[in-house]
Amino acid sequence: MNPVFTTLPTTVFETMSRLARTHDAVNLGQGFPDDPGPADVRECGARALLDGWNQYPPMMGLPSLREAVAAHYARHQGLALDPETEVMVTSGATEALAGALLALIEPGDEVVLFAPMYDAYLPLVQRAGGVPRIVALQPPAFRLDEAALAAAFGPRTRVLVLNNPLNPSATLFAPDDLALLARYCTRFDVTAICDEVWEHVVFDGARHQPLMALPGMRERTVKIGSAGKIFSLTGWKVGFVMADAQLMRVLAKAHQFLTFTTPPNLQDAVAYGLAKPDVWFEAMRAGYAASRDRLASGLRDLGFRVLPAQATWFLNIDIAGLGHADDVAFCEALVSRHGVAAIPVSAFYPDGSVRSLVRLCFAKVDATLDTALERMRGVAGGAA
Ligand code: PMP
Ligand code: GLN
Repeated sequence: MNPVFTTLPTTVFETMSRLARTHDAVNLGQGFPDDPGPADVRECGARALLDGWNQYPPMMGLPSLREAVAAHYARHQGLALDPETEVMVTSGATEALAGALLALIEPGDEVVLFAPMYDAYLPLVQRAGGVPRIVALQPPAFRLDEAALAAAFGPRTRVLVLNNPLNPSATLFAPDDLALLARYCTRFDVTAICDEVWEHVVFDGARHQPLMALPGMRERTVKIGSAGKIFSLTGWKVGFVMADAQLMRVLAKAHQFLTFTTPPNLQDAVAYGLAKPDVWFEAMRAGYAASRDRLASGLRDLGFRVLPAQATWFLNIDIAGLGHADDVAFCEALVSRHGVAAIPVSAFYPDGSVRSLVRLCFAKVDATLDTALERMRGVAGGAA
């Protein structure tokens, strides 16, 4: 058996959701909204399921969805993508990530990653034979440090994995940071795998900037998106990959033997949804920003230190000084004694360098957030 997997614990999201069920807790751990998602998009999927094609769709995705993806990114991010040769549909961003890492890494290649990192990255890199070079970003700003980058990049670096906006820190990389990354990728001839699943969930008037749009990056970027995040439908697992045609030919070879295709009815519905007018995206962001503010101010009133959240469905609290050994101990006490599930951020730091942050998902209706706040009363004031 492969040691990458035999030594791997169950993902923290599954573990915390299981604990939430056991303790009948409010689940602010795993990131999923309790909103059912846009009714028209779901209706479109239901119609396609009943009346449409339910056999294998084309391997690269339905032409209608690939065209919708290209039109969507032209409209929202100014990218010019050829739907025929530069867009592929995958079963979620996770498949896109796995496929890209398998396709681009040769055993022994070095891969630069940032911590905090989404928990799938490291095992996927290792299974592909990559040698991880991790740059740890520190709270509260999670900014890039050029000296650390210079130490991580070298002649054997082949791939950079970038998650922007960044889960779990809820931060956006600054334009200067992106420019720096583009310089390093071009200088070292590195391909960037950009996990941009949170690109639409950005707040306070910020705009997501794709690394692919920076000078020198168009031919060396694999951009990954997810309909699950755009439409608050995390169970759908419809992802998309955008890359230059030459790169895409290789990415398609990995996809053809991972999942080959993705349910056609869901693809139909996502194609419809991507064409929604700008006001829909603005309302979606405004709704989540209001939920963020409700949870953040409630937590501050209870005495918690809340870090800024510029994007995603998450905010972090700093639990240093609250009398717990670490974030894992805090989360175990919070779910078992207070009935609120959260995610210890150390799960995203393979080097264990940050152990005092706890991530909470605010993509919930007000009543759910209020119940969680009520249950957390007193936790910041004394032992949880
Ligand atoms: N990358 C990041 C950074 C994520 O936060 C998530 C899910 N929350 C994924 C990838 C997985 O996306 P999908 O469900 O489309 O596979
Ligand atoms: N990406 C989601 C999160 O950050 C969870 C995905 C999962 O459960 N694998 O919470």
